[in-house]
Amino acid sequence: MNKGKNMIKFNGIGASNGISNAKAYILKDNMPKIIRKIIKEPQTEIAKFENAQKIAAEQIINLKKKAIEKLGTEKAIVFDAHLGILMDPEMISQVNNKIKLEKINASFAISEVANIFKQMFLSMDSDYMKERVADVTDVTTRLIKIIEGIEIKDLSLINEEVIIIAHDLTPSETSQLNIKFIKGFITEIGGKTSHSAIMARTLEIPAIVGVGSVVFDILENQMILMDGNSGEIIINPNTQIIKDFKEKTENLKKTRKIELTFKNKNSISKDGWHTEISSNIGSPNDIESVNNNGSDGIGLFRTEFLYMDAEDWPTEEEQFQAYKKVLESVKGRVVIRTLDIGGDKTLNYFKFPYEMNPFLGYRAIRLQLDKTDIFDIQIRALLRASAFGKLAVNIPMISIIEEFKMVKERFKKNEKKLKSEGYKIGKYELGIMVEVPSTVELADKFAKYADFFSVGTNDLIQYTFAADRMSKSVSYLYQPFSPATLRKLKRIIDASHKEGKWTAICGEVASEPMLTPVLVGMGLDEFSMSSTSILQIRKIVSEINKSEAEKLVDLVLNVETQEEVKKLIQLFLDKNNILL
Ligand code: PEP
Ligand code: MG
Repeated sequence: MNKGKNMIKFNGIGASNGISNAKAYILKDNMPKIIRKIIKEPQTEIAKFENAQKIAAEQIINLKKKAIEKLGTEKAIVFDAHLGILMDPEMISQVNNKIKLEKINASFAISEVANIFKQMFLSMDSDYMKERVADVTDVTTRLIKIIEGIEIKDLSLINEEVIIIAHDLTPSETSQLNIKFIKGFITEIGGKTSHSAIMARTLEIPAIVGVGSVVFDILENQMILMDGNSGEIIINPNTQIIKDFKEKTENLKKTRKIELTFKNKNSISKDGWHTEISSNIGSPNDIESVNNNGSDGIGLFRTEFLYMDAEDWPTEEEQFQAYKKVLESVKGRVVIRTLDIGGDKTLNYFKFPYEMNPFLGYRAIRLQLDKTDIFDIQIRALLRASAFGKLAVNIPMISIIEEFKMVKERFKKNEKKLKSEGYKIGKYELGIMVEVPSTVELADKFAKYADFFSVGTNDLIQYTFAADRMSKSVSYLYQPFSPATLRKLKRIIDASHKEGKWTAICGEVASEPMLTPVLVGMGLDEFSMSSTSILQIRKIVSEINKSEAEKLVDLVLNVETQEEVKKLIQLFLDKNNILL
């Protein structure tokens, strides 16, 4: 039990590197269950409601001002919608009537009216009205919290150095964090490949996930030391521990200095074999880190973050500008992935169908081939941007050949239409993410149609081992070293090479230093990862003889367990004096 002053250690899954020491900021869902209460004086409850409206209006106007400064006028529009709901005469009169006629408390009346409005919006034909449900929830929750005297936590307002402790952070919450003040986050659930973890690596914020409920033993404002690499968390660290961690930080800095000498070098093995080491990005704002880390190009632009940060489907022009900016600012090839929404990634303005297993459901290309109007807008933006750099387009979650044929058809149609409108279309490649086992099985067939493969190992491993990538309980089945995973990778790479095509890995496996010798041995054409890992992997590649690594591949594919694979790799590293 945490009494407040004692030093306590525990562990989670290290999800984003870096060491931080700051006080805890607890982010708990503090909304209580709203109970129906019969009241004697409706007038008092109506006054509470009116007062809450005034306070909420001030808060929303304040948020709008801040959003304009930080994100621009366009993104701040959502707060106008919130004000509209807050002042809506129909909503106000329904709440007042309920309080008066049913003699109930204001909070319960608001939650009832909110439900009526949400149901009404959901049943409408217009997508725009359906999208207002999230706004109704936001505004009415704010009103209830004001009435009940519950604090409303706004992450973007944090202005002192803290480590956030939460059940989970949604990807959009993660993308809002101000990296000047947020020194790290620690979450109860999640795995190394959950999207908040991936975002943390992009933002270069240390993160530890999947800690379990013990995370809420941490008290508000307690000093926390976290190591996002090892997953260690220390509450109230003593001076010796702080000293040890400082030393660790110094050593990391030294290693980094050596790695920096690889910034302007080619990605090439000791015996002269070339590969590409590229970056994964989520927005044009990540380009600075791409160039600072001497990346060979962009191996994965996850375009869903453009959609998740928006208040409505991004327009063709907005997308075109974002893709053009990335293509113009990077020397090498840029692989842009079409919208991969669904699973753990949702949108404020689109209601996904309820599904038991969203990771196996209406996701990525499955959604876009269903909503072709949305898909066409993205295709047009991509094709227009193709004139501004070396573009490759990547389609997520392809499971059957027919899907990819339909995609190719749509690209052709849009290309023809754009040309007839006078647009110049550049040369571009069209490939697929290989992340579903059926696609691995038919890799030889897919290789005839796709210009390239990009292996999404985060999903491929979850589907291969039937283990949800978000679940802590089955995280032992995230088995990147297993011969089952490695045999799949070898088959994919070989199938592409047979057709003269190339293969990249853009899942987290690409940045696992211990796997670098195996991937070099397999002849992987492109490693794509968070920019901060590039120089480390380039250095390791430079220390490996590909011909030796090929022999290692033969060995690792023929053992039974991932532990045996790790032992074989360690022997290889020792023999070749490679220190990770
Ligand atoms: C993957 O699945 O490995 C991948 C790169 O895609 P995402 O993590 O975005 O699903
Ligand atoms: Mg994936």
